[in-house]
Order: sequence, then structure tokens, then C-alpha cells
Amino acid sequence: MNEKLLKTIDSRIDELVELTADLIRFPTVNPPGEAYRPCAEYIGERLKKRGFGVEYVRGEGTPGDTDRYPRTNVVARFDGRSPGPTVHFNSHIDVVEAGDGWTVDPFAGIVKDGRVYGRGACDMKGGLAASIIAAEAFMDVYPDFPGAIEISGTVDEESGGFGGVAYLAGKGYFSKPRVDHVIIPEPLNKDRICLGHRGVWWAEIETKGEIAHGSMPFLGDCAVRHMGAVLAAFEEELFPSLDRKQTSMPVVPEGARRSTMNINSIHGGQTEDFRPGLPSPNVPDWCRLTIDRRFLLEEKIDEVKGEVTSILDRLKRERPKFDYEIRDIMEVQPTMTERDAPVVKAVARGIQEIFDREPQYVISPGTYDQKHVARIGHIYDCIAYGPGILDLAHRPDEWVGIEDMVQSAKVMAIGLGLLLRGKLGH
Ligand SMILES: [Zn+2]
Repeated sequence: MNEKLLKTIDSRIDELVELTADLIRFPTVNPPGEAYRPCAEYIGERLKKRGFGVEYVRGEGTPGDTDRYPRTNVVARFDGRSPGPTVHFNSHIDVVEAGDGWTVDPFAGIVKDGRVYGRGACDMKGGLAASIIAAEAFMDVYPDFPGAIEISGTVDEESGGFGGVAYLAGKGYFSKPRVDHVIIPEPLNKDRICLGHRGVWWAEIETKGEIAHGSMPFLGDCAVRHMGAVLAAFEEELFPSLDRKQTSMPVVPEGARRSTMNINSIHGGQTEDFRPGLPSPNVPDWCRLTIDRRFLLEEKIDEVKGEVTSILDRLKRERPKFDYEIRDIMEVQPTMTERDAPVVKAVARGIQEIFDREPQYVISPGTYDQKHVARIGHIYDCIAYGPGILDLAHRPDEWVGIEDMVQSAKVMAIGLGLLLRGKLGH
């Protein structure tokens, strides 16, 4: 029924590959936020030629925004012939640093063996290219479509999205009536629909001590030993109880289908800056620990925090001289789009058509820009769906499969058709 649409996409494979390689050639490494503007302009120029109205929106004053490293986002919109809903494809253009271990140039956009290689190929320039080709093919085959199509290339997703989707959402770019359905082509595998993500609470715990000569530690009070007591209590009580908290959220990989906490860092006493000299003998009067707690829809953020502070308060009652401070660093609520939401059903139908099977519904263990679309924009009809293979993200020799991009572009185009036209084909 969608034969013409699918054929149109098949006829543009070379263009899809070229577009992906071109996007990889912009070294949009974050931090610091390199080459954002030329990359955004490249996307904007292309879409302008196809009739999109194009806006560049700089995340003024957001973390890292300077004239040397402007947080430049691009938002493109094409209005159809009659009123109707708007489908928005949002991709982040920033990538993480290349790191070591590459056998190809990470920013050359090398094509070989049916794959495009490079930093960001999988996460998520391949997804961005697939969504552009899907939208353009759809517009060519159904020029009379109702509603509107938007495509955005946004910055800083890898560092929290504050200069990107969060900033745009704050300006109304991800809210009704402008936008109804959002698809984020993050690398979640071409036959899976990602409904959302777990919540996050980052906090810094500090234990207090008293400085003294290291030869007479009994005259001071060791903040590192106090932190040791905190860690011991975490091991005994907190980690086992987190392991027991299973969730109905279909998180992948399965190990993340429960509450987790990472000890992100621990620092206490003198820094190691004395090298190449020697340290002086001091009892540390402070120790700081950063925790990264991932929580579930079944949990409330106050309970999540309470589990930690109740342990700290008990230590304060029971352990001589123990004192602490705790400071929130970041909070993200968990989010999960309903399985019968329009965007889920439309993309599921596309996956059924292309792969002849039901999609797998998953939840991401970590967060991505959907949090801002939901929390700031109040758009809950939002999913992540894209061609990249999740396990390849951020790794050396990152790649995206050409066939995977073609198939996911077809899925996106079918989904787009269902959301805008309400039907397949003709
Ligand atoms: Zn990503």
C-alpha cells in the first residue's frame, strides 16, 4: 500500500549515505560544543531548499554558550496544504569525544561494508539523516498532506540538553498547539520503540571532620573515615534494597530493570596536586561523594532521597562527631509514554509493515531529551525510535548500518503518514 513511498526511499539510498557522512564530518564534539553552527546551518540550508521555513535558535546564556562555542540549534518547519497535526523529528547534533581505539578517522565519514563509520554515526547522525530522507520522501509522494512536519537539530544532549531541547521547550517549540507528536531518532535499534526512561537523582554528600597533624589523628576528626561509615551502611542496607526494587517498566538491558545507584566519585583530604613532590601529614576535614541514583516510575523522588538521608541521620545519631551535608545536583523524573499513544501506534504499524513483526517496547536505562519534551513542553506523545544499535554508542569505530537506516527511514515515513493522513497508502 505504501509501495511508492518505500520505492522513493529506496531510490535515495546514496543520498542518505552521503547526508550521514556529511553530518559526521562536522566534529560537533561536546564538550566544548565544537562546530555546532556550521552543522546546524548545513541542515538548515538543505531543508530550506526543500521549502522548509528555517530558524536558528541560540541557547543564549546556557551552560557552555560563548561566542566561540555558540549553542546553535536549527528548527525547520514545513506546513502542509491544510490544517492538521504536527509531527516533529528531533535529533541532537552533538557527539561525545572520539577517545582512543579507532581504526578509522572518526570524523571522515568513511563508508565501507554497508556501514557509515564515525563518531556520532549511530548516536545519532544516522538517525537524523534517516528522518530527513523519510520526511522528504513523504512530502514528495503526498504533496497534499495536511498538518506540518518539523525537523530539528539540537545541541548539548550529551551534557543534559540545557542549551538544546530544554531551551527550545522553554520557548514553546515543543508545546501544543505548535507540536503534537515527537519522534527522537536515538539509537535504540530499528525494530524497537523506546517509550521513555528511568528517573535520575544526582547528589553530593559531604562528611565533616577536623584537621590535625597526621601523626596524632586522635586530635582531629577524619572525614574520610566518616564517609567510610556511610559507604558501609550503603553496602549493607541500601544496595540490597535497591536490588529488590523491580519495575514494570521494560528497561533494557535487563540488569537496569530495577533501581540502581552508582558512586560517581569520592574525594577527601588533600588533592593529588602535590605530585611530583610529597604530601603533608594532615587529617582530612572534608570528604565528598557524588551519587547517581536511577529510579523508577513506581518510586517517588522524596522516598528516593529519604532512603539516603535516613541512613545519614541515623549515623548522625549513633556515630560520635558524625555530621554531613547533602546537596542536589540534578533531578529528572522518569517518563513512559503509553503504549496506545498515537505516535507509538503509528511507528509500531511501520515496524509491522517493514519487519513483519511486532515491535519490542523498551525503556532506556539513561535519560535523553524526552525528559524536556515531557516536563517543559508537556508533550507526552513522544518516543525514541532510530536505526543505530544502542551498544555502539560512544564506542570506538562507531558505525551505522546503511540497510538499518533505510529500513528505519521507511518505518518513520509510514508512521508520519499515519499521524498526518490517518491512513496508509493512496
Ligand atoms: Zn544520543
